[in-house]
Amino acid sequence: MANHTRPSRGFGTLAVHAGQKPDPVTGAIMTPVYQTSTFVQEAPAEHRGYEYARASNPTRTALEENLAALEGAAHGICFASGMAALDAMLKRLRPGDHVLGMADIYAGTIRLFREVFEPYGLAFGFVDMTDLQAVEAAVRPETKLVWIETPTNPLLRVVDIAAVSEIAHASGVDVAVDNTFASPFLQQPLALGADMSLHSTTKYLGGHSDVIGGAVLTNDDAWAENLRFQVKASGAAPAPLDCFLVLRSTKTLHLRMERHCRNAHAIAAFLREHPKVGRVYYPGLPDDPGYGTAREQMLDFGGMLSFSLANDRKEDAVRMMAGLRIVSLAESLGGVESLIEHPATMTHAFLSREERQAFGITDSLMRLSVGVEEEADLIADLDAALSAV
Ligand SMILES: *Cc1c(COP(=O)(O)O)cnc(C)c1O
Repeated sequence: MANHTRPSRGFGTLAVHAGQKPDPVTGAIMTPVYQTSTFVQEAPAEHRGYEYARASNPTRTALEENLAALEGAAHGICFASGMAALDAMLKRLRPGDHVLGMADIYAGTIRLFREVFEPYGLAFGFVDMTDLQAVEAAVRPETKLVWIETPTNPLLRVVDIAAVSEIAHASGVDVAVDNTFASPFLQQPLALGADMSLHSTTKYLGGHSDVIGGAVLTNDDAWAENLRFQVKASGAAPAPLDCFLVLRSTKTLHLRMERHCRNAHAIAAFLREHPKVGRVYYPGLPDDPGYGTAREQMLDFGGMLSFSLANDRKEDAVRMMAGLRIVSLAESLGGVESLIEHPATMTHAFLSREERQAFGITDSLMRLSVGVEEEADLIADLDAALSAV
């Protein structure tokens, strides 16, 4: 990576400027979309740092430096998707190695663990990471990676990153945090002791539901070198236009996150008072089990929440979602528009009903990605839809 001196500036300043400088040829203030597959060399092996765009591309470099700055990381490595980033991490492990994950995590992560890497000989264990003694007991001699996600999907449980990292490091195990739900604005896993922070840039970093991408941020030189090598060797590279779109979006990350959080607080408060609503899962509610830890390790509580209906009937959840006029029914999250989904039939449908029940994903549970629309309009939309229940 370019030797970029990174002044310790505030988050908003880094979000707008880090990794970018005006184009030296034209003065263009925006980093160009370097839509090119190759780079002309002066003489054999004499080039300006770029040879072939699978390995690296200047638009990608700008995004990597920008994201690294947002989490105070020495290295940022971008991928074609969040899953491609996780896939590369797991490929650094070897048959027989064990990964300790959390029970309640992104469904695609569980699918990749079980259906792709288990057949190659990696072993996966799942524990409730809010229980530190359980974490300690589950670390084995073969454990090579502890995989934290916080807040979790879809139940917004909160894991103490510093405490779990301490336990893992005591056994020489590396720690990775899926920081997608929080975003770098709200949570800084590396500063809390983790070795790697992973993002699906598809979500809050992209922020506009128009791009798929992933990134790993780390201060660990060996991990960074391996992951960068893998992008080049296996080709999980993001396209230049996609890098441009994420780079443009990180400029407003702090502004968007403030509004996502404010709206989510208001909606969580509204839902918990509603007679037709059962449980509300939002770490910003003072009696939520994750509230204390979230307050310690997050700047605010995020824009994601889940809730169930008091009667826990799936048909009523379906009817309610059909009655929404502003909130759209869709998977994904983190965009400016509010989205709702039904984990039992959508994101978590591949789990058996018993597994879902064991995680706490009940039949009426709905997950809401709160957008940046007007708070009053969102509450009115939810209120009207709930009247159909
Ligand atoms: C979406 C998501 C992923 C996967 O990212 P893609 O960009 O969709 O591949 C991983 N973890 C979490 C928490 C996510 O929300």
